[in-house]
Amino acid sequence: MSNINCNFIAGQWVTGDQEIDNRSPSDTSDLIGRFAQASRSQLDQTLEKAQRAQAEWANYGMERKQAVLMSIGNELMSRAEELGRLLSREEGKPLAEGRGEVFRAGQFFTYYAAECLRQLGENADSVRDGVEIDVRREPVGVVAIVSPWNFPTATASWKIAPALCYGNAVVWKPANITPASAVALTEIISRQDIPEGLFSLVMGAGGSVGQHLVEHPSIDAISFTGSVPVGKGIATAAIQNLTKVQMEMGSKNALAVMDDGDLDLAVSVALGGAFGGTGQKCTASSRLIVHSSVHDAFVDKLVAGAQAMKVGHALHEATQMGPVVSDQQLQENLDYVALGQAEGGELACGGVRLDMPDDGFYMSPGIFLNTTNDMRINREEMFAPLASVIKVDSYDQALAAVNDTNFGLTSGIVTRDLARATHFRRHARTGVVTVNLPTAGTDYHVPFGGRGDSSYGPREQGKSAAEFYTTVKTAYISAGVPS
Ligand code: NDP
Repeated sequence: MSNINCNFIAGQWVTGDQEIDNRSPSDTSDLIGRFAQASRSQLDQTLEKAQRAQAEWANYGMERKQAVLMSIGNELMSRAEELGRLLSREEGKPLAEGRGEVFRAGQFFTYYAAECLRQLGENADSVRDGVEIDVRREPVGVVAIVSPWNFPTATASWKIAPALCYGNAVVWKPANITPASAVALTEIISRQDIPEGLFSLVMGAGGSVGQHLVEHPSIDAISFTGSVPVGKGIATAAIQNLTKVQMEMGSKNALAVMDDGDLDLAVSVALGGAFGGTGQKCTASSRLIVHSSVHDAFVDKLVAGAQAMKVGHALHEATQMGPVVSDQQLQENLDYVALGQAEGGELACGGVRLDMPDDGFYMSPGIFLNTTNDMRINREEMFAPLASVIKVDSYDQALAAVNDTNFGLTSGIVTRDLARATHFRRHARTGVVTVNLPTAGTDYHVPFGGRGDSSYGPREQGKSAAEFYTTVKTAYISAGVPS
């Protein structure tokens, strides 16, 4: 077991049937470790234990639960440098982003630690005389969490923290491409004052252990973040057992740049939104919808900014954009570049594989000009450091283009006009709207989620998470009359 990173099954660290190597996308000669792959029987075993542990955990006093979540959050924040480095090493985002992600993950835990104490509920008088009604929330039970690689610690944490806060057991299947961050978070959780088996880590391939997990009749709820096809498959599996499901699945977010906006702000918001996290964010600004009267000036600055971006090893301090997460993702990105050109887009810069001193999956940030909203590069989620400019002649055309998509996670506008900002905020058909800010980057204490193909089920984060991680019980009480 010495050099194998184990799964956490029924409260024990155990090896699996197989192991996989985890290598850095910045430098494939950097072996981060070997990681166990959970077997089906281990999954069955941990689910059985989770059911019993959940009942015990739900009966913990609320201050005891709060202390557990606070301790996890505080440890994540105090180790943000160390764990952020590990995250950046395996995922490829620059160190500052890795560090920031781990710190933010800690904040999810401390936020939900406080929510453990927020026990104010609802009550009512019945329509029947002498009867009172108490409406309260109870845990759903055992929750399966299936998380992606692009925010390996934060996305998992914004699911795990509320799941535990509201009294549930958790079985976590992280993306197999970022297992080291999953083991690090599990190690922190494993040391807490929790019942044995309350929290499980089941690393393994999505198509095997993931599929078995989401099909399992012992699961009461599934929270998933990832791609639309996998999400649809999970929903199909969930419905067979009538399992509650919540899914967040990417987008095709647009940033509208208006003729009255601050041009420099628009450029920095667009560059950050399009290329932060190497464009591998569900909230990335992949469509830049630009008013014709500022189009040329905006494009000049945008292209200059993209060309100046320092692409490099995630752990080098000067790096502004790290590598793509995997060879497969890089190949798909390059295919999209070829597709965009075939569709008539003009590649103004970047979009090519870069030869670097380290053997990693590097590409330059790419910008397409002269694109139309019906091109596939403007309709499909690319998850790449690629952005397209779409020229429009008015605010109305901009809003129409923003809303012309199957997705609906985030959208943004850069404008100084209060009427346009307000109208946009009210009429953009997305779950999140930003004004003079990037489409990426959200807080932890407010709802997060989208419309259309972007999301399914209740919103995540903030108090909205209670909707998914609890079930409502309505009690009718006839106390009678005092004798
Ligand atoms: P996937 O949807 O394949 O993976 C997301 C998670 O689901 C991973 O943990 C994966 O496991 C798991 N999974 C895969 N198949 C199954 C299954 N049949 N049953 C249960 N769980 C499963 O995304 P990818 O990582 O392959 O990325 C592909 C594309 O998805 C990206 O290019 C991007 O467009 C989109 N995406 C969107 C994200 C978002 O934030 N909305 C996040 C990540 C991806 P494993 O990785 O081990 O196979």
